[in-house]
Amino acid sequence: MSIHSIRDTICALSTPPGAGAIAVIRVSGDQAFPVCNRLFRPGSKKNELINAASHTIHYGLLGKGENLIDEVLISIFRGPRSYTGEDVIEISCHGSPFIQQKILELLIGEGIRLATPGEFTLRAFLNRKFDLSQAEAVADLIGSRSQSSHDLALNQMRGGYSEKIRKLRDQLVGFTSLIELELDFSEEQVEFASRHDLKQLLEEMKSELSSLIQSFSLGNVIKNGIPVAIIGKPNVGKSTLLNLILNEEKAIVSEIPGTTRDSIEDTIVMEGFNFRFIDTAGLRAAEDTIETMGIERTWQKVSEAAIILYVFDATSDSFKDVKHALSEFSELSENRHKKIILIGNKADKLKTLPVGFKEFVDYETLFVSAKRKENIHLIAESLLEAIKKADLGDRTIVSNTRHHEALLATDKALDGIMEGIDAGLSGDLLSSEIRSALYHLGEITGEITTDEILGSIFSRFCIGK
Ligand code: GDP
Repeated sequence: MSIHSIRDTICALSTPPGAGAIAVIRVSGDQAFPVCNRLFRPGSKKNELINAASHTIHYGLLGKGENLIDEVLISIFRGPRSYTGEDVIEISCHGSPFIQQKILELLIGEGIRLATPGEFTLRAFLNRKFDLSQAEAVADLIGSRSQSSHDLALNQMRGGYSEKIRKLRDQLVGFTSLIELELDFSEEQVEFASRHDLKQLLEEMKSELSSLIQSFSLGNVIKNGIPVAIIGKPNVGKSTLLNLILNEEKAIVSEIPGTTRDSIEDTIVMEGFNFRFIDTAGLRAAEDTIETMGIERTWQKVSEAAIILYVFDATSDSFKDVKHALSEFSELSENRHKKIILIGNKADKLKTLPVGFKEFVDYETLFVSAKRKENIHLIAESLLEAIKKADLGDRTIVSNTRHHEALLATDKALDGIMEGIDAGLSGDLLSSEIRSALYHLGEITGEITTDEILGSIFSRFCIGK
């Protein structure tokens, strides 16, 4: 994508390709009004597009000379009160691919260029309609497949933590200018910027950053699905259980348009949360146990998972067996933050359920029967409870990898400044560390951008957005 063609007037189909009841073609730029005015024959003489008020809709025929293509509705938005900030026209036509193609050809024939992916949103960003993190949220919003990822994207689009980041950055900018002022008076050894205040600000920033950085694992999980691993010894009923969980909940998921069967195969959406079962294809095809698949793969699954379902056979495994197995894999587990739920399967073969199990092993324990489909809903409830406990409430959550990296880099630069202050570094050395922190903070909101960053962000969009 090249940024220098930003002056061109661009057009694209903004609705999905293919046939539909209607389709919308969007045009943005200086030439949108003159060109569309030439091609449009208004239903009523009064409705000359060129003179029409912004935010109005006009009915008429579209075509060139005698070559009429379609009856259309044209919505007009005069810049800067439009999505891109430029003059924008949206042509709603009948949704046949032939008509869509003909209209685009007509516009291109008049010197309008086809938009690159995300170019409308790129222009909105360049015209300061919103900042970079909000623009990225538009892509996330379009891509979101569950209520929680939708909420996350919407929150970010409406400002999210941009404001917070901007405030922190402004404060730091204040200090840089004071410190740079000191450089002009370097002979006199004055300190305009109190090192004590600067340190205090850095401490505050670090604590803000750390909560944003920590939120990333949660944000990522919401966006991509909460990873769940089912593990346990052979023949305890893991596959039976998994199929049951997936099949019971799947109906809702498979109706989501645009998701392929493959990618949703091991995913369920419950109450707006997306749960993703890790590496389950292997589980169904082959024996998948600590013994047979080797420590390495179990470790991999355990380390990837946010929630672990450890299945055991309630008829043959004793408290002790389970506790022993758990102690083995809790050593494998990277940290103890993962939620572990024990599932005693084959409860149909038990006369009475074991009591005191939970106290003994110190994990939530559910007794179910995969075969008789009994108590499976308890598993779903536990999964939901685990994620709700993570307290999504009003927390600001970072879900974007690029932002996460920029936050980590900022945090590192802040450490550098702190060390510099402690070591009594001179103003000019401090100021270069501060600039590095400013740079990384600016990367998030787009105050600092390179063509490369813009290119990689906007190419993720579909054409027409
Ligand atoms: P995996 O090796 O852990 O994946 O276990 P499978 O799901 O392949 O099940 C092993 C055997 O246990 C199969 O014969 C299942 O029919 C049986 N099984 C699974 N769940 C139950 C259950 O709840 N009750 C009983 N009685 N048998 C079950």
